[in-house]
Amino acid sequence: MGRIVGIDLGTTNSVVAVLEAGRPHVIANAEGGRTTPSVVGYSKDQELLVGQLARRQLVLSPRNTFSNLKRFVGRDWDELDDSSLSVPYTVRANDRGQVRVPCPVTEREYAPEELVASIIRKLVDDASTYLGETVEAAVVTVPAYFNDAQRQATRDAGRLAGISVERILNEPTAAALAYGFDRSAVRRVLVFDLGGGTFDVSLLRIANGVFDVKSTNGDTQLGGNDFDQRIVDWLADSFQKEHSIDLRRDRQALQRLTEASEKAKQELSGVLSTPISLPFIATGPEGPLHIETNLDRSTFEGLCPDLLDRLLNPVQVALRDSGWAPDDIDDVVLVGGGTRMPMVQQLVRTLVPIDPCQSVNPDEVVAIGAAV
Ligand code: AMP
Repeated sequence: MGRIVGIDLGTTNSVVAVLEAGRPHVIANAEGGRTTPSVVGYSKDQELLVGQLARRQLVLSPRNTFSNLKRFVGRDWDELDDSSLSVPYTVRANDRGQVRVPCPVTEREYAPEELVASIIRKLVDDASTYLGETVEAAVVTVPAYFNDAQRQATRDAGRLAGISVERILNEPTAAALAYGFDRSAVRRVLVFDLGGGTFDVSLLRIANGVFDVKSTNGDTQLGGNDFDQRIVDWLADSFQKEHSIDLRRDRQALQRLTEASEKAKQELSGVLSTPISLPFIATGPEGPLHIETNLDRSTFEGLCPDLLDRLLNPVQVALRDSGWAPDDIDDVVLVGGGTRMPMVQQLVRTLVPIDPCQSVNPDEVVAIGAAV
């Protein structure tokens, strides 16, 4: 039989891991990255692009590039709220009320599961190349709040990708497995997951290998991207003030601004100030214009207080629903790249005053748990 892998099929990024000699390892993709953007697109030549290559054309070719697909998986059209529909590509209902994604460049319509299958396919292909043998099966993680239809659709995506989905596992359970909590007696764990586009908090009771999700809450419209956007606006507003040009209206410029902003945000998790340099970002009456500036962590934090506020309420509601007080929590597990931001970690500490578990990379902890 072929190998089995663990897949964290994330809203923004996906990760594949495998157990080798009893230890979980993240497998790098063909481009060398340990996380693969959950983005699928078609190039001008109708070539299928998955991962980083698709992500690179996100702003340049917004109608042919599909991100955040996870919010459509297993959902009927009439179950979607308006905010779910705020994606740059077209989403429509077919005559059976199912969600369909038309792609202008291929002149075809896709089911969300079909596009997600391309992501799974890439992860599995890259894993097969790394392992030197075929991968035939996977354990795939989903948010704790996914209903049966969403879980089934995730299985279907696996089947369309040509693999057998051995188990669907809750993401917070996977994160807890990565820390070996299944081996402890009774533990109450808070899993705080801030990904690129979504925020989830789950409270788990783990006893003798049995995982019980006591409560779960979150905000499906809040993630690391919102923090990037604050930097995009900060840069674009100041540029507009100086040169009377709105860079957000120029797709090429916006793509570069978005990428530079995310990079700056990530760097500010490690340093107190970071340079942002975007030469030839626009052309004014006197020739080319550039962005050459510095962003301090404190300035960045000053741009985001309302985003932090939006992290508070879901945690409080989840605690209330579980019937636990912050003092009852034994461990806090941080998941998702967004939890690397010092301001986010600080906030978590004010809510539950213990040191969070951080020894496993927060971007990889769910895939590691799935491999386990
Ligand atoms: P995930 O979906 O868990 O891969 O999380 C992706 C989000 O984490 C993106 O918004 C990334 O920009 C963000 N992220 C990754 N690394 C860092 C970092 N060092 N500091 C802040 N955010 C980060």
